[in-house]
Amino acid sequence: MQIYNTLARQKEEFLSPGSKVRMFVCGPTVYDYSHIGHARTYVVFDVVAKYLRHRGYEVFYLQNITDIDDKIIERAKQKMINPADLALEYKEAYYEDMKSLGITAVSEYAPATQYIPEIVSQVKQLIEKGIAYLIEDDGYYFDLVKFPDYGKLSGRTTQSAEDAVSRIDESIKKRNRGDFALWKFSKLEEPGWNSELGYGRPGWHIEDTAMTEKHFGFQYDLHGGAQDLIFPHHEAEIAQMESISGKKPFVKYWIHPGFLTVSGQKMSKSLGNFITIRDALKKYPAEALRMMILMAYYRSPIDYSEENLRQTEAAVNRLAEFTNRLKNIEKSLLRSSTPKLELIEKIKENFEKEMDDDFNTPKAIASLFDFVREVNPLIDERKISSEDAKKSLEMLNEFDQILSIIPKKSQEIPPEIQKLISERETIRQAKDFIHSDQLRDQIKNLGYEIEDTNYGPLVKKLASP
Ligand code: AMP
Repeated sequence: MQIYNTLARQKEEFLSPGSKVRMFVCGPTVYDYSHIGHARTYVVFDVVAKYLRHRGYEVFYLQNITDIDDKIIERAKQKMINPADLALEYKEAYYEDMKSLGITAVSEYAPATQYIPEIVSQVKQLIEKGIAYLIEDDGYYFDLVKFPDYGKLSGRTTQSAEDAVSRIDESIKKRNRGDFALWKFSKLEEPGWNSELGYGRPGWHIEDTAMTEKHFGFQYDLHGGAQDLIFPHHEAEIAQMESISGKKPFVKYWIHPGFLTVSGQKMSKSLGNFITIRDALKKYPAEALRMMILMAYYRSPIDYSEENLRQTEAAVNRLAEFTNRLKNIEKSLLRSSTPKLELIEKIKENFEKEMDDDFNTPKAIASLFDFVREVNPLIDERKISSEDAKKSLEMLNEFDQILSIIPKKSQEIPPEIQKLISERETIRQAKDFIHSDQLRDQIKNLGYEIEDTNYGPLVKKLASP
């Protein structure tokens, strides 16, 4: 298997099949509902973990939840509620959203506030090594000059770390502009923990290394997060952990999916150009949202518009209708003289070949649509046996365990209507639009409306008069 590794800036051979994979992905800061940009990142990693398991790897997938952060404190102040209550509310909402998106691959969610002793211990070690320093009445900071490797993930240098300053890292008393906070003293009215470091709260980067050291030790296999986290967040994690352990590399493979954008700009809370996962799922099935995400190569941006979701809704309906047709054949005990569907093996091979190539989901999904295209006419002509229908369904189910793009609940379209739709599609493909329009009317009179999309006909039952 080949995986694009940000650290190597190229595709690399992944661990040998059957290996244990310790995988960590940066989770959300829980101060609001998640949007479909977040969904992109977490759907991608859901598929990564599930596919690795499908390939025989033993994956432990850990994801943090940032439940203490200045954004949380700020929002709680605005709402005049306790920051811990705000974080709890949105952490629960995040779990609900993940569940409705079919994201089930995470082995354990790790809220930062449950790792305070581990965080304090790491900061203490950095102080003892002379890498962390104190700014009175402010906190402890990481001295970037002490880690010459800083920038190896992103290709930047300490000097070019100007924009490393983020969140709670601002202070004019820092030794270097890019130095980042490890432990920030809290004012009495702010949330904090009494520790040997003083009453305070963790910096943004330290929670991740504290929890991964606890679960995985000094080094592990796979770390992910969207591309904005490469710098400074992941760079800072490397600096912290390699300084403490003296062991390199901290992580072997780094995966960074691209953004979901709107008119070319990253979807984000601050720009106000977002749509929450729960709002999107009120209008479209989760499978359509996953399909929209997985139809793009994970490192490329996806420019979102609602039209994308309408198109992918048609695509997932098509898969659902196809599986329904196969289920009808499976029940029919049809014995056919056609040779066994060698196509199933071919599609399976193709799917795995594409996924093995850096999780190329668009090409893997295209091979499933090839299958639909080739098998639908065989169903029309009753040339597929119930045994082959069963095998086809098994293959589709196996892949859908990874992708979750086939709706489980779908409208049942009667076989006679399905046959007409299929005939019309053949006629339409042959550009005989007069006849295909006549068939569309005929189908409409039977109570079903057809809309043609890039992924074939989207069929909806008309409301009864
Ligand atoms: P946050 O809660 O802002 O820390 O974000 C949680 C995760 O979602 C991080 O990995 C972000 O990089 C990722 N993320 C945020 N916005 C987007 C977006 N528009 N597209 C893809 N990933 C995003």
